[in-house]
Amino acid sequence: MSSTRTVLVLNSGSSSVKFQLIEPDTGTSVAHGIVERIGDANSTAKLTLGEQELQRDGTIADHEAALRTAFELFREGGGELSDYGLVAVGHRVVHGGRDLYRPTVVDDSVLTAITDLAPMAPLHNPPAALGIEVAQRIMPGLPHVAVFDTAFFHDLPEAAASYAIDRNVAEQWKIRRYGFHGTSHQYVSQQAAVFLGVPLEGLNQIVLHLGNGASASAIVGGRPVDTSMGLTPMEGLVMGTRSGDVDPGLVMYLWRTAQMSVEDIETMLNRKSGVLGLGGKIDFRELHKQIAAGDTDAQLAYDVYIHRLRKYIGAYLALLGTTNVLTFTAGVGENDGAVRRDALSGMAPLGIELDEHLNDSPARGPRIISAERSPTTVLVIPTNEELAIARACIDVL
Ligand code: AMP
Repeated sequence: MSSTRTVLVLNSGSSSVKFQLIEPDTGTSVAHGIVERIGDANSTAKLTLGEQELQRDGTIADHEAALRTAFELFREGGGELSDYGLVAVGHRVVHGGRDLYRPTVVDDSVLTAITDLAPMAPLHNPPAALGIEVAQRIMPGLPHVAVFDTAFFHDLPEAAASYAIDRNVAEQWKIRRYGFHGTSHQYVSQQAAVFLGVPLEGLNQIVLHLGNGASASAIVGGRPVDTSMGLTPMEGLVMGTRSGDVDPGLVMYLWRTAQMSVEDIETMLNRKSGVLGLGGKIDFRELHKQIAAGDTDAQLAYDVYIHRLRKYIGAYLALLGTTNVLTFTAGVGENDGAVRRDALSGMAPLGIELDEHLNDSPARGPRIISAERSPTTVLVIPTNEELAIARACIDVL
């Protein structure tokens, strides 16, 4: 048991809830876990608490049952949440639109606003709103704080935030480039400055968040000047299952000529595209194995992924003029040395040179992987969105 304060951070998806109990002051993760396949006959709940790994299998009917099961596992393993100085519940919310961008204590009007943004983030905001509503019911005595994935990019320069489409249509329908993964881009860019021991204000940075979802950002003095995701988290880099950039004409073509429904097109671009759609695997460890076995589809998926990534790096180098730091983060960015090498190969004339040995090292934690002579310092910084959310909760309270 700890005497310091903690925040419970929840990330509610349509069929899963991820949770983590964090001490925001020290950054210590007290417990973390996930409930998956909610509503299915073979749901699972997993909790890691210290050295203990607890698991429960069987039907977990809905999000309320999911949270209650998580608490039961917590009790099995260690005790009551109240023993851990729980002061707030932080909720990751993907889309905050134009109006919700600061970490916000959720009341009925905020919950309604999050729900009303569902058309902009149909896969993400409805389950987030459901997660908040359930958590408020189960833990009514605590402040519930929503932290928005779009927040960091709220003040993107207009030139980066605007699509070149009919202005009236854009205004009426609130169409702009909102950007996502903001909590991660902000956290990682701040940590890069801390790690290097230099002021954030003086740094031009590129952050590459390469996980299942993937996005890039260009940041000047702690403020983003561009990012690869747009109105929705589908724009930009190639991802695990999302296409990233496509010609918008493709949507009309599929609708009109292939007679696919809007839902089918959305599902295809969101869930059946990216490296999965091209190469049959989501996980880069599997993709590399397929490539090694001579699978040409997997090779093409990898090549398209790297090609797109290099295009964005090049674009952001041009936007920034001088780039002091380029940082890789998230599952692929932190772990896949081949992706990092191929993303940056041949860029010495542009001021980026990796140290092969440092890049290949299986080290964990924040680290430099560029050659000493490289004008741009290349880093790997593990992201920690949960800690950033927990700290945002404390700040707002
Ligand atoms: P994230 O969304 O940040 O959790 O990233 C998940 C993705 O990271 C997985 O789908 C894998 O593609 C990738 N990943 C995780 N661990 C490794 C690893 N050791 N090597 C290569 N890729 C990894």
